[in-house]
Amino acid sequence: MPLARADVVAIDMHVHPQTEEFVASMGPRATQMAAYFGRPADKPVSFAELADQYRERKMLAVLLNTTDVASSGRRAVSNDVIAQAVKSHPDVFIGFGVIEPQLGHLARDEIRRCAEELGLLGIGELNPGRQAFYPNEERYYPLWEEAARHKLVLLFHGGMMGAGAGTPGGLGYKLKYCRPIPYLDDIAADFPELNIVGAHPAWPWQEESLAIARHKTNFYIDLSGWAPRYFPSQLVQYAGTILQDRMLFGSDWPVMQVERWLDEFERLPIKPDVRPKIMLENARHLLQLA
Ligand SMILES: [Zn+2]
Repeated sequence: MPLARADVVAIDMHVHPQTEEFVASMGPRATQMAAYFGRPADKPVSFAELADQYRERKMLAVLLNTTDVASSGRRAVSNDVIAQAVKSHPDVFIGFGVIEPQLGHLARDEIRRCAEELGLLGIGELNPGRQAFYPNEERYYPLWEEAARHKLVLLFHGGMMGAGAGTPGGLGYKLKYCRPIPYLDDIAADFPELNIVGAHPAWPWQEESLAIARHKTNFYIDLSGWAPRYFPSQLVQYAGTILQDRMLFGSDWPVMQVERWLDEFERLPIKPDVRPKIMLENARHLLQLA
C-alpha cells in the first residue's frame, strides 16, 4: 500500500542508497567504512526493499547521490538512477542529484537537468572533503546560482567524515574542506535565496554550524551520521530552543541505523512540541512539500 502524505510522520533527510550499483561504485571505501563503523560490509538493498522499510515507518526518505570521481577515479552512479527510484516509489522517496563542481559548465548543465528533467529537489550530498574543493571559491558561484534559480536545496557534508577514517592518510581525503565557516557561511551570505543544509553535527566545528544557522535563516543542520546519545549538550540545547526551526532529522543510513537514531533521540531532553518540527515540519518547509 502506498504511503499517504497525510500519514507521514517524519522525513529522513539523509539516506544513501545501497543497491548493488551504489555499493559497487564505493570501491574500497565500502570495506573501509564498514571496518571503521565496526559492522559487516553492507549487503545490497534494493530500492523496493528500502521503500517498504520507509513505508512501514511512515516516513519519507531523501535519497542522496554521491561522487568523488575527481579524487578516486571511480564513476558515480548516474542521477537518473535516483530519479527512477523516485518515479517508482513516489510515495516515500525524494531525490537529490550530485555534481562534480570542478567540471564547470558540465556541472551547471547537470544541475539544470536534475531540476528540469529529473524532477530532483536538491543537490547533494556534496562532500568537499572527498571532492577536494572549497565551496566558496568564486569559480563555483555559477553553480550555486543555477541551483538557486531552480529552487534546489544544496546539501553539504560537514566536519569529520567516515570516508577514509581509521586508515593511514585517511585515503587521501583532507578534512580542511569540510569546515562550515567560511566555506558554507559565504555561500549562505551571498545567496540568501538559496537553502543550504550543513549535514551532520560537523564535529569538530559544531559551533560554527550552530552560528551560521543562528545568523542566517537559509541555513539548516541535519542531525545525521551521529548517534544522538553522543550529541554534545550544546547541540541538544540549541535544537530544543532557538534553532528548533532549523534542525532536521536525518539518519545517514546505512552508516546509522534508523531505529537506533530514533530510539536515542527519544531519550534526549527535547520538549514534545519541538520534536515534530525536527522530525517533519522543518524538512517539509525546506522541501516545499504540500
Ligand atoms: Zn556526510
